Amino acid sequence: MVVIGEHRHTQVKIDLQAIKHNINEEMTRKDPLTELWAVVKANGYGHGIIQVAQAAKQAGATGFCVAILDEALALRAAGLVEPILVLGITEPEYAPLIAEKDISVAVGSQAWLDQAEKVLAANHVAQPLHVHLALDTGMGRIGFQTPAELAVAVKTLAQANSPFDFQGIFTHFATADQADDTYFTHQLDNWKALIAVVPELPRYVHVSNSATSLWHQACNGNMIRFGVALYGLNPSGTDLSAPYQLQPALSLTAELSFVKKLARGKSISYGATYTADQDEWIGTVPIGYADGYERRLQGFHVLVAGQFCEIVGRVCMDQMMVRLPKPVPVGTKVTLVGSDGDQEISLQSIADYCGTIHYEIACGLAPRLPRVYTE
Ligand SMILES: *Cc1c(COP(=O)(O)O)cnc(C)c1O
Repeated sequence: MVVIGEHRHTQVKIDLQAIKHNINEEMTRKDPLTELWAVVKANGYGHGIIQVAQAAKQAGATGFCVAILDEALALRAAGLVEPILVLGITEPEYAPLIAEKDISVAVGSQAWLDQAEKVLAANHVAQPLHVHLALDTGMGRIGFQTPAELAVAVKTLAQANSPFDFQGIFTHFATADQADDTYFTHQLDNWKALIAVVPELPRYVHVSNSATSLWHQACNGNMIRFGVALYGLNPSGTDLSAPYQLQPALSLTAELSFVKKLARGKSISYGATYTADQDEWIGTVPIGYADGYERRLQGFHVLVAGQFCEIVGRVCMDQMMVRLPKPVPVGTKVTLVGSDGDQEISLQSIADYCGTIHYEIACGLAPRLPRVYTE
C-alpha cells in the first residue's frame, strides 16, 4: 500500500509518554472508584485513534468514547475489548451491528428505542444492545429534556425481554471550562432533577468531560470521559489553570526544501502580498493548508533551527515561505508545533492566531501528515 506523505520529511510526532503522564495524573487525582474512559474520537484528536487508545489503556483507561460507530468498529478491529461508547446518535438501522460488536451507544429519544427494537427483532439479534441515555441539561445537542420523556424511556429499558441493556446515563456540560459557573450550576440542577425520576441508576453515571473533571471534580459520578486533557491540552485554553502540568503530546516538524536569497523589491507567493524591503534569505517549507496548516497563518512564525522565523506571503496548498535570519542549508529542521532549543510553539498559540481553539487545529491536521510515535 502506498502511504501518502511517507516520502516527505513533514511529520506529526506523538509522544505516547506524555499521554500516559496526563492520564496518570488524572488517575491519581480522581476518586479511585471512578473509571477513566479515554475519548479518542476524530482519530484521537488528530493524534491517531489506535495508538492513543492503546497508550491510554496502558495508563489505566478502562473504556473508550468515540463520536461515530465506525470509530468504535476501528477500535474493535484493532483488538480492543474494553467498553466503547459512541457519543453521537447512531442510526437505529445499525442496532444489530452495534449489539454484535458489544458497543454502547448514546440514546436521546424514545423514537430511537422503538426503531432499534424493531430492527433487533427483525434480525433475531440475541446479544443485548448497551444503551447510555443522553440527558440534555442545557447543551442543547442531543438527549431527553424532560422527566416525563425520560421516565417513559427508562420504563422501556426495564421491560421484561427488553433487547436493551441499560448500561449508562449521562449529560454534557457546555461551560465547564469557564470561570463563571452560573450556567454550569443551572445544568447540574437540571441533571439532578432528571435523574431523580430513574428508580434504579445504571452501572455508569457520568457527566464529566476533561474540563468538568479538572475543575468540578465533585460531580464526576463513576466514570469520566477524559478527552482533550489526555493529549496535554488545557480545555479552557488559557482561562483556567489545570491542577497539574499537562504535557502536550503532539509536535509537527518539517525540513527546509529550498533556500534562496531574495533581492530587495521582489515578492513572495500568491497575490504578491509580501515584498522584501531589503535583500533577504527565504526558506521554503513543504507544508500548506492541505495539511491543515491554515492559510490564515501568514504572518505567524515557525522555528528554524530553534529560531523564530516569520511566515511571509500567503500559505499555499502544499508549501509556504519563511524569512530566515541568515542562510541555512536545505534540510534544516523546521518546528511548526513543539519545542526546539529554548523556544516553543504551542497548538494554543496557533489557535489564538487563527481565532479558534486548539481542538480544531489538532483534529484538522490532515492524513497526509504521517504520525510517528515515540514511547
Ligand atoms: C468530545 C466529548 C467529550 C470529551 O471532551 P473534552 O473536552 O475533549 O474532554 C466528552 N463528552 C462528550 C459527550 C463529548 O462529545
